[in-house]
Amino acid sequence: MPHANTTAIENPRTPTVRFAPSPNGLLHVGHARSAVLNWRFARECDGAFLVRIEDIDLTRARPEYERAIFEDLGWLGLEWPTPVRRQSDHFADYREALSELRKLGLLYPAFMSRSEMQDRVRMAETPDRPWPRDPDGAPHYPGDDRSLASAERDRRIASGAPHGWRLDMKAALNGLGMTLSWTEHGAGSNGETGVIAADPAAWGDVLLARRDIPASYHLAVTVDDAIQQITDIVRGQDLFAATSVHRLLQQLLGLPVPRYRHHSLILDANGRKLSKSDGATSIASLRKQGHTPADVIAMAGMTTEA
Ligand code: GLU
Repeated sequence: MPHANTTAIENPRTPTVRFAPSPNGLLHVGHARSAVLNWRFARECDGAFLVRIEDIDLTRARPEYERAIFEDLGWLGLEWPTPVRRQSDHFADYREALSELRKLGLLYPAFMSRSEMQDRVRMAETPDRPWPRDPDGAPHYPGDDRSLASAERDRRIASGAPHGWRLDMKAALNGLGMTLSWTEHGAGSNGETGVIAADPAAWGDVLLARRDIPASYHLAVTVDDAIQQITDIVRGQDLFAATSVHRLLQQLLGLPVPRYRHHSLILDANGRKLSKSDGATSIASLRKQGHTPADVIAMAGMTTEA
């Protein structure tokens, strides 16, 4: 697959969208919103609505949550083709993408544990020199491992040192020779639509393979969207900034570029986005309390279709 200078072509295929939950908790009203928006978008343009199970985090994914996802979506009146794509069945696809990036010289093994990383940042940070942070507020990965000599990398790997794989962001952007953008048809992060300039550098050296898994969220979602020929990505505004990373990976791996529609989120009484750990707004508990699908759709801020 080509590296730089690939022309970004917007995907011309049958409109295809996906709802891609992680089975690590019960779906809540915010998920209902995303699922129904995807479903309605597909219906309006005579396209396909897919469900994808994002379960790369094997320590958190549970079969009962996966079953609950299907039950909740069916109860809301949605239908989708089966079998659905389950990410844990496709590690080979992510390994292949990693090997492409490695061949391009854009990956390096990252040995620091989360706590080593936090210590490193704490030591280096001063009030007037804050450590750079990504759009989610996490510190950028320190550059130490990026500048390790390759003999030392090999030695550590051979000695069995646990390691993930990170993208050398500077090298990736230097090799690109172009700026990246995407077309936003939704609410953007603050309501902006149209051509959005991507800013992958804001994320630093993003994690592409975790220590225990040959993938990360960013890698798996980008590879899957291409394999499933997703033309339109309808998802919450909380993933707006992550789109910059996905655009970069698409470019590096020569993948098609979907259109994006980031939708606004449903917030709780304290102005925070709903969380799976707060059972109160789960679709399952609302159903048990006697609410109808139309009630839940209304709680999700949408009117029921005639
Ligand atoms: N699996 C992600 C989530 O549950 C959604 C991924 C996406 O839509 O890109 O938040």
